[in-house]
Amino acid sequence: MAGIRSYNRRVLVTGGAGFLGSHLCERLLARGDEVVCVDNYFTGSRTNIAHLLNKPNFEAIRHDVTFPLYVEVDEIYNLACPASPVHYQHDPVQTTKTSVHGAINMLGLAKRLNARILQASTSEVYGDPAVHPQPEEYWGNVNPIGPRSCYDEGKRCAETLFFDYHRQHRLAIKVMRIFNTYGPRMHPNDGRVVSNFIMQALRGEPITVYGDGAQTRSFCYVDDLIDGMLRLMDSDAAITGPINIGNPGEFTMLELAEQVIALTGSRSAIEHRPLPQDDPRQRRPDIAKAKALLGWEPAVPLRDGLARTIDDFRRRFFT
Ligand code: NAD
Ligand code: UDP
Ligand code: UDP
Repeated sequence: MAGIRSYNRRVLVTGGAGFLGSHLCERLLARGDEVVCVDNYFTGSRTNIAHLLNKPNFEAIRHDVTFPLYVEVDEIYNLACPASPVHYQHDPVQTTKTSVHGAINMLGLAKRLNARILQASTSEVYGDPAVHPQPEEYWGNVNPIGPRSCYDEGKRCAETLFFDYHRQHRLAIKVMRIFNTYGPRMHPNDGRVVSNFIMQALRGEPITVYGDGAQTRSFCYVDDLIDGMLRLMDSDAAITGPINIGNPGEFTMLELAEQVIALTGSRSAIEHRPLPQDDPRQRRPDIAKAKALLGWEPAVPLRDGLARTIDDFRRRFFT
């Protein structure tokens, strides 16, 4: 593909011991890059990267990105930030600090090194969207003072900082808006819908559907997501994003519950629980830009991705 540069770079991955970060580290190592993984292990774990620790081109550093970091790298993927509502609402002030101070420090690092930097932003910048599906031009519908705001507004401010460093300091930036992603190595207690439903189904406990279960989400399998992330980082310098990466297949939470029950062969019943405050009613990415600019689209259907994820949860927690 035009614009793709040569490999064997030294790459910094913040949040590298998390769900997405650990998959990214694996993929970078597999193609010959040297990886520096930085993580404070708040929601990630060393188990996620245990299989990488003995590789000569992998290095893990315990560090909180809200503090300055001095390392020498060619490229930065900034993923550090708790991602599930349960985790990011546990210490909301730290969540905003991680997004905002973390972005400032990583942008300062990128500026000093003249390194390319990619921000793991989120579909949450669209809030409870009034436009459906969501194109990148949509400015969003976000509550600035609610329980989800520490995450949503923190990520919005990080996007602002990325574009200001780009305009003010000519920094090469890539802003990726990630939609709900799932797959092996998800945290079993992060409260996210896919991990909750799988754990509940495998334990034979009730499947907790919040509200009437008619709210929708679009779920992207992790391998597809990382593929999009690598393509964006390697794309022509003129492509800054923001760019949506997600799977446009849209499902209600009731449909998801039914699929998980069918694939696990569970006897769990569905139980309704109150809908959390500010829970978006619907979400689906418009991925026309990713298709046109990166030649990317997801390949793994929900059913297949769920089956692989269920296998991983069985292996990790039920053998
Ligand atoms: P995760 O919680 O598994 O990973 C985040 C990692 O960041 C963890 O390893 C955590 O310990 C680390 N971290 C948190 N605060 C830190 C700090 N101050 N300093 C250093 N490390 C810190 O979550 P994930 O699903 O892998 O998400 C990765 C990134 O992708 C996040 O930025 C998230 O906002 C974004 N994202 C994820 C999704 C998704 O569906 N998984 C959707 C949209 C955006
Ligand atoms: N920074 C860092 N590593 C570096 C360079 C900078 O962590 O290699 C941090 C630094 O602590 C600063 C932030 O990045 O607070 C922003 O740096 P920048 O140069 O943009 O701003 P300034 O230092 O002028 O405040
Ligand atoms: N949800 C649910 N049961 C659960 C966990 C979540 O019905 O046990 C719902 C939640 O209310 C939301 C959707 O599933 O409508 C996705 O929730 P998640 O926390 O995974 O992601 P986000 O809301 O950040 O997209």
